[in-house]
Amino acid sequence: MKHENKATNNLQNTLEDLSGGKKASKSLFVLLLISYIGVSLIVSMSAGSHKVMNVAGTEIGMYAFAGVFSALVNILAIFMAVYFKKVGFISAIVLTGLQFPSLLVGIFKHDNLQSLPGVFTNVLTIIALLIIYINNVRIERFQEKIRDQAVTDRLTGLPNRFACRELVDSLLKQNERFAVVSIDLNNFKSINDTMGHENGNKVLVTIAERWKALAESGETGTLDFVTRQGDDEFTLIIRGYYYEKDIAATIKLYRERLEKKITIDDCDFYIRGSFGYAFYPNDTDNIDHLFTYADAAMHEVKRLNSSECILRFFKEQLKLERTLDIERKIRKALDDDSIFFELQPQYDMSYQLRGFEALARMKDADGNDIKPSEFIPVAEKVGLVDKVDLCVFRQSAKFFGELVRKTGANITLSINISVRHLMKNDFLDEVISIITSSGIPAGQLEIEITESVLIDSAEKALQCINEIKKMGIKIAIDDFGTGYSSLSYLYNFPADLLKVDKSFIDNMNTNRSSKQYVAAIISIGHIMKYDVISEGVEKEDQLETLKEIGCDYIQGFIWGRPLSMVEAENIVMSEVCK
Ligand code: C2E
Ligand code: MG
Ligand code: MG
Repeated sequence: MKHENKATNNLQNTLEDLSGGKKASKSLFVLLLISYIGVSLIVSMSAGSHKVMNVAGTEIGMYAFAGVFSALVNILAIFMAVYFKKVGFISAIVLTGLQFPSLLVGIFKHDNLQSLPGVFTNVLTIIALLIIYINNVRIERFQEKIRDQAVTDRLTGLPNRFACRELVDSLLKQNERFAVVSIDLNNFKSINDTMGHENGNKVLVTIAERWKALAESGETGTLDFVTRQGDDEFTLIIRGYYYEKDIAATIKLYRERLEKKITIDDCDFYIRGSFGYAFYPNDTDNIDHLFTYADAAMHEVKRLNSSECILRFFKEQLKLERTLDIERKIRKALDDDSIFFELQPQYDMSYQLRGFEALARMKDADGNDIKPSEFIPVAEKVGLVDKVDLCVFRQSAKFFGELVRKTGANITLSINISVRHLMKNDFLDEVISIITSSGIPAGQLEIEITESVLIDSAEKALQCINEIKKMGIKIAIDDFGTGYSSLSYLYNFPADLLKVDKSFIDNMNTNRSSKQYVAAIISIGHIMKYDVISEGVEKEDQLETLKEIGCDYIQGFIWGRPLSMVEAENIVMSEVCK
């Protein structure tokens, strides 16, 4: 029973704390009260005094100051009513009222009409106090309504997302341990779709009422705070537990309440949910991470789709969460057709333009770049890379075809194609279709295939590569040196270009053997009749060394970063006008 009261108070207090404004200090009230009494005494003393003061040669009776002090007293009363709401108003009314007997005695008993202005002033003060009070009450009610709306979810009446964050923030400041539980209802969208939004809302309200009742009953043995984040997402904050197992026990009770049959308009609903939770301070002491971690655990429950729907956060979920997040973003970008490309120039050693490599680009909803090194591996893993490749291929070929037609420039467009994509049955048809629609000459097109992936699937890929070669398209082996190509394999491989990986170029001038290594790759490439291009050239000394050891081309920030279409076109224009 004690815990029950504590739980109710806890919910109430937390909401009041969050919605309440700052209260004026008690000591200021006491100061006003003492000043009021002090100045009132001065008023009565000066009013009855027959003393005379000499001010700059003029004699003034002390009673003349009574009016000034009396005005001060009324101002103090008004201050009380303004700043101390109900208490201030009552005190001010009582204190002002207490002055009436002495004023009335003066008028009626001693026939002293000098007190008459004092009576009028007091009546006016009381009217002013009443106006202030009525106004205060109206403003307060309005503020209360606004504050309530700010921290309360409209549909369910539960504390909202803002209240939840504020509570977590204050718990962190107090260094109190607690758990954040992220809850998402399963398949709630289908209820909305099939039964209508109104019924969906009724289901949400019923769930909220059950959970609120449970939180306030104290039955869980912990101090719980249920909030709605929006849609079908709720967050539960649990504190006041002894052991971690108490948390799981509490969540189980919420789960049971959720899973009980809900009947709305003679229709029965059986709702299930996914619960993921993380702890402070065990998992993190960062407020944003806490919510992310609890969400990650909740999403893992959804992904596992098992009957066990309560899961504690563990670090591995984050990686998975990020992968799922990127997968969602790739799917969205493909739907919106918002994947685009940049073109990085490639040059020969005398700074003559060889062509461009098309590189996929993607942004998230906030306009931040997501790196290809992050989204390409995810696209590979979830089977979307062919769609990404194709998107970049189609767009860049269209642009390049027009550019070549316009300028007549003899330059190459290199595109990255994942080996998985290359081995798909319809890949050749795709290539033919893009070449035809874009008008890009096959001899000016190059397909880059990453070495490490290629050698794993060489047999199957080779057939397709031979077909591509027959069409006149060039083949480049990308990131050369990172895989384990054997010489015999290289000897038989129908490539045109070797792309030496950036990691070798980075180390090339750090010691003699690294330089010899790159020189050896270039020599082998030449023996195999391949051209050799070095990737990631950034420094002047790297460029000098590459010239010295006979590299054919370079691609790197030193001569050109990945560019927009307009920038690439400008480069081609200035090249053909040379
Ligand atoms: P990659 O094909 O080896 O492309 C070269 C990468 O090195 C690009 O990174 C480029 O911006 C970067 N780079 C070039 N020069 C320099 C330099 O001097 N310094 C530094 N620090 N970096 C340089 P990006 O654009 O991030 O692409 C990363 C990888 O993503 C690519 O490596 C490629 O494997 C893959 N990728 C990009 N676009 C596509 C695509 O459309 N399809 C497929 N399947 N993979 C793609
Ligand atoms: Mg590449
Ligand atoms: Mg590369």
